[in-house]
Amino acid sequence: MKREITLSSQDITQAEIDEVVAVLRSERLSLGPRIPAFEQEFVKRLGVKHAIACNSGTSGLHMVWRAMGIGPGDEVITTPFSFIASSNSIMFQGGRPVFVDIDPQTWQIDPARIEAAITPRTRALLPVDVFGVAAEMDAINAIARKHNLRVLEDSCEALGATYRGRWCGLLGEAGVFGFYPNKQITTGEGGMVVTNNDEIAFLCRAYRNQGRDPTADWLAHARLGFNYRMNDVQAAIGIHQMRRLDEILAKRDRVAGFYRERLRDEPRLSLQRVPEHCRISWFVFVVRLSDDYSAEQRLTIIERLRAAGVGCQVYFPAIHLQPFYQEPPLSYRRGMFPITEALCDRTIALPFHNHLSEADVDYVVRTLRSLL
Ligand SMILES: *Cc1c(COP(=O)(O)O)cnc(C)c1O
Repeated sequence: MKREITLSSQDITQAEIDEVVAVLRSERLSLGPRIPAFEQEFVKRLGVKHAIACNSGTSGLHMVWRAMGIGPGDEVITTPFSFIASSNSIMFQGGRPVFVDIDPQTWQIDPARIEAAITPRTRALLPVDVFGVAAEMDAINAIARKHNLRVLEDSCEALGATYRGRWCGLLGEAGVFGFYPNKQITTGEGGMVVTNNDEIAFLCRAYRNQGRDPTADWLAHARLGFNYRMNDVQAAIGIHQMRRLDEILAKRDRVAGFYRERLRDEPRLSLQRVPEHCRISWFVFVVRLSDDYSAEQRLTIIERLRAAGVGCQVYFPAIHLQPFYQEPPLSYRRGMFPITEALCDRTIALPFHNHLSEADVDYVVRTLRSLL
């Protein structure tokens, strides 16, 4: 029998299923008690003042920009090596994503390049904790303080990761987590804003709920808002996913360990460097082919891996090369961020989820090696 190893898979237990069934039998499918209960799991676990659940990581990012007052013409500096939602969220408010290139080893925004990109219109920095590793946040926060910029940390890939012993998500003024099924924990779709800032928290609670003040009448809308609410079925899943966080992270560490053991002495591949002061929370398992390989050869390897039943993906394509980022007004071009481009042409995300066995990883690595 041919093996089929999927790229990603969720990890749902009977506890999540029972809680969902309990919600379905209850009176409240939305705006019920499980939303604050899910938020409290974050408050307790991370030791943060406010956690605001919403219907996706993307909407969480959008609400924070709005709460920070980012608007038309404002520039936000971020990385082109990320999932596209991070920089798109700036554009929802009419802002302009300004990219700077990454560090070739850590694959994170390179703080040494940020100041050269600051203009009189720069209002904020959007570091992304890429692949469950913190961005270089001390240097980023120092630049923000010096130039009076806001800092939003996109931690959608980094629940459970730490930086100098502090939780990712709490390293800027606000952080956002995402719960799509390939993330560390899932609610199907969902997101969470975390912050110690009372004003950001107050505004995000209002924006997710049609602009209502949290204490006001149902039909009193103090400001323009959205429907970015999470529902109670999603929160029911999230409560138990969050309670299982340690178990989930341990499973992911174990699978990553299988890969690392087998790829340690492979000169044709390299992995993201995790700085000593960062604890990774494994999100995906991405390998980078050496510079001897072309972008075309990478695609051939991916095709053949898939033909052998190994789910894999280009991860990520450079954001600035997406078609609408190359059109006016952004007008980004190939050649502008060469370190990112060289990386994006050579990455392959391999199957990575909690249920992979050592034999599965063995098969993936043997198949990959045979194609190099
Ligand atoms: C997943 C992800 C998001 C968006 O999360 P959704 O919940 O899918 O909207 C944002 N930024 C990064 C870096 C992500 O990986």
